[in-house]
Parts: sequence; C-alpha cells; structure tokens
Amino acid sequence: MTARVIVVGGGLAGMAAALELAERGSQVTLLEMRPMFGGMTRSLEKEGMLVDNGQHVFMKCCSAYIDFLRRIGSLDGVYLQDRLEIPVVRPGGRVSWIRRDSLHPPLHLLRTLFQYSYLDWRGKLKVAQVMSSLSRMDPSDKSLDDHSFGSWLSARGKENNSANSLFDLLVRSTLNLPPEEASLQMVTKVVRTGFLSQVDGADLGWSNLPLSELHGRRAARALMSRDVEMLASTKVNSIEAGAGGEPVVNLANGRSEKADSVVVAVDHRTAQRLLPRGAIYGQERLSSLGTSPILSVHVLYDRKVMDYPFMASLDTSIQWVFDRSASLEVAGSTTVPGAQYLTIPISAAYPLISKRTNSIISKVLPALEALLPRASRAVVLRATVTREAAATFRASPRSAELRPGSTTRFEGLFVAGAWCDTGWPATMEGAVRSGFAAASAVAKFLGSRHEEGLSPSDEPSTDALAVGNLAAGNGSEEKSCQGGQARQKTKLKESA
Ligand SMILES: Cc1cc2nc3c(=O)[nH]c(=O)nc-3n(C[C@H](O)[C@H](O)[C@H](O)COP(=O)(O)OP(=O)(O)OC[C@H]3O[C@@H](n4cnc5c(N)ncnc54)[C@H](O)[C@@H]3O)c2cc1C
Repeated sequence: MTARVIVVGGGLAGMAAALELAERGSQVTLLEMRPMFGGMTRSLEKEGMLVDNGQHVFMKCCSAYIDFLRRIGSLDGVYLQDRLEIPVVRPGGRVSWIRRDSLHPPLHLLRTLFQYSYLDWRGKLKVAQVMSSLSRMDPSDKSLDDHSFGSWLSARGKENNSANSLFDLLVRSTLNLPPEEASLQMVTKVVRTGFLSQVDGADLGWSNLPLSELHGRRAARALMSRDVEMLASTKVNSIEAGAGGEPVVNLANGRSEKADSVVVAVDHRTAQRLLPRGAIYGQERLSSLGTSPILSVHVLYDRKVMDYPFMASLDTSIQWVFDRSASLEVAGSTTVPGAQYLTIPISAAYPLISKRTNSIISKVLPALEALLPRASRAVVLRATVTREAAATFRASPRSAELRPGSTTRFEGLFVAGAWCDTGWPATMEGAVRSGFAAASAVAKFLGSRHEEGLSPSDEPSTDALAVGNLAAGNGSEEKSCQGGQARQKTKLKESA
C-alpha cells in the first residue's frame, strides 16, 4: 500500500521534500497557508509592478538548489555566470572588478587580489591572511560557533579599513548580519564552500523570472505532474497523535488529516508552536534563533542608467544593485520601451526596516545617483519598497546548537526548513537541502516500517506520540533525534 505523507509549508524546503517523496513513490499532500507556493521567495504587485519580495542570489556551489531548479524545469529561468565577475562601484562611478581565473583555488583569486584597486597593500595582505586562515578551519568544528567573525577578525592583529569593507559586504550579503554579529562557523562554511573548495563555487546566479514563476508556479506544476496534492490557502493549527499513533494534522478549517508521516517545513517560530511539545531538542528555545530583516528598493527609470547586469558597492548605504528589467517584462507589468528596472537589496537592514517608504526612497535614490551618474538625469517612473522583517534567522554565535536535524522524537514526524541543521546559513540552498534530507529520513522510516511488515492498516494501537513524550521526559535529550527515534521504536514494541 502506498504511504501517505503530508508536508506542511510550501516554501522551498517543503516543495523540495514533496518533490523527493513523490519521486520515491509516496502519495504526498502539500499544505500551504498562503494562496501561493514559494514561501519566502515570492513576488508581489506594488505600484503597478510585479516585484520580488527581495533579490535572491545563489552561487554555483549551491548544488541542491540547482538540482531542484532542474527537476522543476526552471533551470532555463535563471542566469548563471560563466565565471565570477563583480563590478564594485564607488561614489562618482569609479569601478574595480573582482574576477576569478581558472586556476586551482585559492590561486584563482590571486590576480584579482593584486589588481583590485580599493585595497591598499596592507588590505591585500590582510585579505590573503584571512582567506588562508579560513582555508585551514573546518566548517564542521562546532567551537567556531562560539565566536563572531568580527571578534575573530579583531583578534588577528591590526585591522584594515579597506579589507573590512570587503568582509562587511561578503558577510552581510551571505549571512544577513554584520560581521560582528555573524557566527565564525557560518562564515567559514560560506568562504570554504564558495571560494576555496571549487574553482567556480562562487560564480553567481539569479532569476530572470519573477520568483513566483521560477519557484511558485513552476514547482507547483512539476509537483502536480507527480501527483502531489497541492492545497494552498490551507493553514495548519497543530500536529498531534491519532488513535493509532500516526501523526494527525489539524487544519484551521476544523478538518483533521491522518498520514503515515508528516514533514513540518514552516519557519522556526511557527514550528515551535505547531510541533507537539518535546518533538525536537530545545524546541522551547527555537524562537531565540531570532530574525534578521532584508529590505529592497525597486525603481523604474525611464532609460538605461546602469550598464552592468548587477554591481556591488562600497562605502554607501547601497550594497548591491541588480538590473531586473527582463523579469519585469516577463511579468507583463507596465513597461516603457527603453526603461530600466533596478532593484537594490539591503541586507541586515535594521536601521531602515521600520522607516516610511518615502523616507527610504529619498535616502537610497541619491546614494544610487552617486554611484550611477546617469540616474540623476533620468526620470523615476515608479519607485517602491518591499520589506521582510523576518527574512532569515540570525546566524549568530551559538545558533548552531538551536538547529535540529530532520528527525524528531516522534515516529513519523520530521522537520525541514532553512533553519534546520544543514551547515548552511538561511539560504535557498539550505532550505532545499533540508527538504531533501527530511524526505530521505521519511523514506528510511517508511522503509523500516515496511520491513517490519507494518502497513497503515495494521499499525500498532500504541500512541506513538505519547510514547515519544515519555522518551522526551526521560532526560536523555539528544540534538539529532535519530537515536531518540530508535529508542521510541523499542518502547513502542515493549508496550504493544
Ligand atoms: C528578502 C529576502 C531575500 C533573500 N535573499 C536570499 C538570497 O539572495 N539567497 C539565498 O539563498 N537566500 C535568500 N533568502 C533566504 C531564502 O529565501 C530562505 O532561506 C528560503 O526561501 C526559506 O525557505 P523555507 O522553505 O525554509 O521557509 P519559508 O520560505 O518560510 O517556507 C515556509 C512556508 O510555510 C508556510 N507556513 C507557515 N505556517 C504555516 C501553517 N501554519 N500552515 C501552513 N503553512 C504554513 C509559509 O507560508 C511558507 O510558505 C532571502 C530571503 C528573503 C526574505
């Protein structure tokens, strides 16, 4: 008999889990409280434009995310650099390039380090020393999570302002936190994986389509073609044990759904509430993973003001600017021939997030004009702001101990989400990896049950969640709940 699996949460983690489970032969239902799938990667109508809630960028080393795009038929909807190449612009329009070569890492960055004109020779030396130290550190070393990248940097001799600006740009855009608040372990993970493990690891990619199309609609189509039941606008209120011990999902509309297995793929704060008490280690502290905001300014100029597909910037309130004119046209929003649509994402946007739209626009556009002199002669046709106050969890020191693996203390119940322990910061890659990992754990669970000769119709009558609660109360909490699950199974047999 085909096992039924319910996935709660239709973001990247939930959709990746649903995809993998459907391909492994489960009968999958995906429940999403919003009217659209895609979660934190979404598009919205603003000022007559269909804009993304924030610019989403990935690196070539994001292998799980790229695989997900391929499987949902969206690989043709992204632009992926042949070779890392970033114009870094300073006020007045001066530009210096970061480019990689095809030599083995770290030699692939040597030439750009020498040529990069915003670093004085001390800055170049500092960057080389820091990269060399990071290359010898192990991202799985948990002790690194006791320190912030900023404090580690300060402890490494005299600081250099030009090098610090570069580190600030890197850390803010990958961890959505300033360096002094970012976990050293997480920065090590990003630098090692992106810049030091493979020559093309940090080549950048982003969507040429609105995110609601790239992820939402296309993933929904791919999942439906694999017979996944997709229920949007369906909010889950709680998860509990059914009479037979199977997980039961209680919906806000009053209905309840039984399944052989459930994957909870919501954000960490909602997971804390939805999961049965004691489901994961430190569940009551999950919300202390916190949140970090991202804000984006979207501006439509009547003419082309930027020649690059994207650029980074130093020493202004602007970190990145992307030309997203192509996605605006695809969205069918109002376009004017020759107009250019730019989006300016601002990570760790604490000082700006609660400011009024007009005040943000009046601060950011002059800074943009200082970088792109042609913008000051162009007409702003439309400008708007999107805000995500809880864009990501805070990858700060000691966050790793709060991130669970996919398994829980309860039989058949699993978790996924960018906040889970994937080794990655809150990224699309982390979300997809967590979804695939949860699907593998479900398949293993269903497989072992199949081997034991249990089918949904002849499950033991013992309340597995209640047994799980007993296990949770025995004081032997473990972070990875794999061991907890084995223990529950023993108890289940004992009590059956
Ligand atoms: C503005 C912004 C910019 C970003 N930029 C980047 C970037 O450049 N690169 C990058 O890699 N990452 C970026 N990220 C992070 C990335 O988008 C997220 O890490 C990832 O999308 C999280 O996916 P998820 O599936 O784990 O969670 P979510 O996307 O939060 O999905 C959870 C889903 O669960 C649903 N849900 C919640 N509660 C319930 C309930 N009770 N019942 C049913 N459904 C429920 C939600 O509606 C949501 O759809 C950015 C995020 C934001 C917001």
